[in-house]
Amino acid sequence: MRNLAKTIRGLSWIGIACGVHGWVFLILSLCAWRELVPEESGPFLPLASAITPRFPLDPIEPELRRRSGRPAESPPESEDLGSLYDWVTVEAEHRAEAAPPPRATIPDSESGSARGRSTVTRSPGLYDVMGTGGGAGRGGAFAGRFRRGGGATTATEKAVDAGLRWLARHQAPDGHWSPARFCDHCAGAKCDGPGDDRHETGLTGLALLAFLGAGFTPASRETYVDLHSGKRIATGDVVRRAILWLIGEQQPDGRVGGPVRETYNHSIAALALSEAYALGGGGALREAAQKAIDYVILLQNPYRGWRYTKKCGDNDTSNSGFALMALKSGDLSGLVVGSSTYDGARAWLDSVTDENYGGTGYNAKGQLCVTVPGFKDHPTMPAVGIMCRVFMDRAPSHPSIRPSVWMLAADLPVWKPTEIDYYYWYYGSLALYQAQGPEGPEWKKWNAALKTALLPHQHGMNDGCADGSWDPDVDKWAHRGTGRVYSTALNTLTFEVYYRYETAFGVEKRK
Ligand SMILES: [Zn+2]
Repeated sequence: MRNLAKTIRGLSWIGIACGVHGWVFLILSLCAWRELVPEESGPFLPLASAITPRFPLDPIEPELRRRSGRPAESPPESEDLGSLYDWVTVEAEHRAEAAPPPRATIPDSESGSARGRSTVTRSPGLYDVMGTGGGAGRGGAFAGRFRRGGGATTATEKAVDAGLRWLARHQAPDGHWSPARFCDHCAGAKCDGPGDDRHETGLTGLALLAFLGAGFTPASRETYVDLHSGKRIATGDVVRRAILWLIGEQQPDGRVGGPVRETYNHSIAALALSEAYALGGGGALREAAQKAIDYVILLQNPYRGWRYTKKCGDNDTSNSGFALMALKSGDLSGLVVGSSTYDGARAWLDSVTDENYGGTGYNAKGQLCVTVPGFKDHPTMPAVGIMCRVFMDRAPSHPSIRPSVWMLAADLPVWKPTEIDYYYWYYGSLALYQAQGPEGPEWKKWNAALKTALLPHQHGMNDGCADGSWDPDVDKWAHRGTGRVYSTALNTLTFEVYYRYETAFGVEKRK
């Protein structure tokens, strides 16, 4: 019992552990939309106007330099730092030429255009899956989020759109999302489902990741009027303020946020800063992101994985999964990550992976999940294990993966009171999509079940300010103070799985 209690206690942040253009759609047309666009009619047109050249300078760079008292940076040669956005612009122009007209636009958008500056050809490594293939281009693994295809449908993109709008409505003016006090920003009747503010660094990181995952950056120019609050929202400003808030929380040693549950909170923040830099940040953002990555490495146990606090000697696969995601993202972003940190992570995963049936455990072989009374056990750790292997080693053929895929396929998402587990669904989606690609048989079954389970339970226009959110209190981890910011940010990221990262098999096919 003591072990069980310890395990459950140890998981309090697991829920937390866990990438809109949607602005392209008229949110007033939720019903009319079905008549305009067939349900399964992807791939989606990207929000081309959200793609803005990296220079003129990243809008947050001057603010970061002012804070640090350093002189302004001269724009570097576009060959290096401009390559990502230049390439994206090429893609946007190509799509604009080849594709039918956009299905919808924001009626009051003040979008700018990224066209007219594209003369740069694709740089090496653009299709490099998670940085492990044959190239070193900075935008490769993230390029899909500017295409918004990969199996996304009208319904899933509407869900992403609505989820991001809910998040934007509940962002504090200083840029963070409060798990407990987000309802201070409600329009009309308050949303319920407060969480625990000890998670605010991690959840602000998670919400920011949802915007970055959909291709939004501080340079995005889309604006819209929120239909519930009547306020004009500038998408680039939402992202800018979130990044600045996270950097403002960074300690001299690199940690973002406080010491409580620092591995989850910090790793998610580090992942967000790293992606923000990859999508177009300048030198000051690079510095903050590098310090954050360095601190993730400081948290790691020597030759092993991660737990809740720095080098505590204990390890678990859930904390390790988020730490590893941050490091891999740092790698892809051109930040410095030593190889020995991956050696330790591999050693940890191997130590909890059963050679006979392949599943990765939480903190021991065979412990594939953490039990919560009243809720069904799911093979969540095997899902995290698949993701780690694919992202770290680009190894969809690792012996542990196939059995783990079968475990997930035998436990598909379903909306039943004792089975709802947003964290499992997030990692299961990421793992299966990465392991199999969009045509994988198990992925297809999972994806169908996922949409059936989650889409009908996102709040809609008639639910007032809750529009776009998912209820937290039905979720397996709600008792841990996760709250509505968590459930909405995480489920929004789940529906960005189609384009948030390039897939391993997809890249192999292109090679
Ligand atoms: Zn609200």
